Amino acid sequence: MAYEHLLTMLMTLRIAPGERIAIDAVARQLGISQTPVREALSQLEAVKLVSKMTNVGYRASPQMTHEEVRDLYALRKLIEPYAAARAAEAMTDESIAELQAIDREMTEVVDGDALAYSQFAEADARLHRLIAEGSGNRLVAETIERLHAHLHIFRALYSTNAPTRAATEHRAIIEALVAHDPDGAERAVLQHLERSEQRMDTVLAAPEDLQK
Ligand SMILES: [Zn+2]
Repeated sequence: MAYEHLLTMLMTLRIAPGERIAIDAVARQLGISQTPVREALSQLEAVKLVSKMTNVGYRASPQMTHEEVRDLYALRKLIEPYAAARAAEAMTDESIAELQAIDREMTEVVDGDALAYSQFAEADARLHRLIAEGSGNRLVAETIERLHAHLHIFRALYSTNAPTRAATEHRAIIEALVAHDPDGAERAVLQHLERSEQRMDTVLAAPEDLQK
């Protein structure tokens, strides 16, 4: 509960990038003790959404910079299309069932529902992780996992209608994977990453007040 609450606050910018997070205030607000709040914060630290500051407590991570976004997508475009092609060749019935469950979850996002927004971002992370692991290459999977890209991207895109657009792109990826179509999966992932990068560029180019 503390995790879901804090994740949603961070993803929807109710806790602004860079803002200090007071453990006692969060605990009071939720009517719980400080221990689960601390645990939630250390989980969020593991995905780099918050960072621990000596003697100060926790702080929300700043948004990604232009340079970080550029580097992130350059790397993702090199390895994720490859991973998708390999995954399409090797999809098991079990992975296909999971893909379809993720697909259903992603289409259920309701506009303006804060909790649903953070759940969408987590479903996006699961989809890309499934593809990375489906490649059968552990180094590829670990490299993608270590980027912790998805929560950061969707936090930056909160002011846009990214889930609706990404859902269409994800559908194309999922269809190619289910059809065991390596070329189609490779193309669909590359196209999704290119469009996602464009969305990030648009948000980063917008004046500060449009990002709120
Ligand atoms: Zn995605």
